[in-house]
Amino acid sequence: MIHRIPKFVQKLLSDYFEFSIPTDKRIIYLTFDDGPVPEVTPKVLDLLDRYDAKATFFCVGDNIRKHRECFEQIIMRGHATGNHTTHHLKGIISGTKHYLSDTEQSREFHHSNLFRPPYGRLKGKQIKGLQRKGYRLILWSVISYDYNQKISPQRCFRNVSKLRCGDILLFHDSIKAERNMLYGLERVLRLYSEKGFRFMAIE
Ligand SMILES: [Zn+2]
Repeated sequence: MIHRIPKFVQKLLSDYFEFSIPTDKRIIYLTFDDGPVPEVTPKVLDLLDRYDAKATFFCVGDNIRKHRECFEQIIMRGHATGNHTTHHLKGIISGTKHYLSDTEQSREFHHSNLFRPPYGRLKGKQIKGLQRKGYRLILWSVISYDYNQKISPQRCFRNVSKLRCGDILLFHDSIKAERNMLYGLERVLRLYSEKGFRFMAIE
């Protein structure tokens, strides 16, 4: 399992996607996809607060509608949010028009123009359409595989344990990922706080 996107891939696709935020400063960008969910999101927020960490939540519009209070907590506690479509669409099997309108349905919720495609893949026309609408397409440089229930929490942490300045980390704010994610997240927060890193939301 590749948990770090190789630099040459990042460079090859740099006109379309942001994989990391280049910096010399000790900053890490934690991101959480697929929430909000009342069973998990409050635990993530408490953990982040304990380390004075800020993060970016790529929320599914349908979940925002169902769990409005949970979503407002994310914003009230100083985190950024980004668009992850309204129905968690898979780009490569969706028509472009439908994909763009599903994304636009959730625009009102977010104060940013950040977008992350579910499953990390899009058709060329969808990329162009989203860029025309002013979205920044954010992927990640390091993936935890927290959603994979076949891996142990320890393995999940090892996937994200070697970080560099400006890395964007992918976790999931979901019931499926909870066990691995909370374990990996807590240890990343502890280890990298000790190393003098700060955790920031994507602007
Ligand atoms: Zn997703």
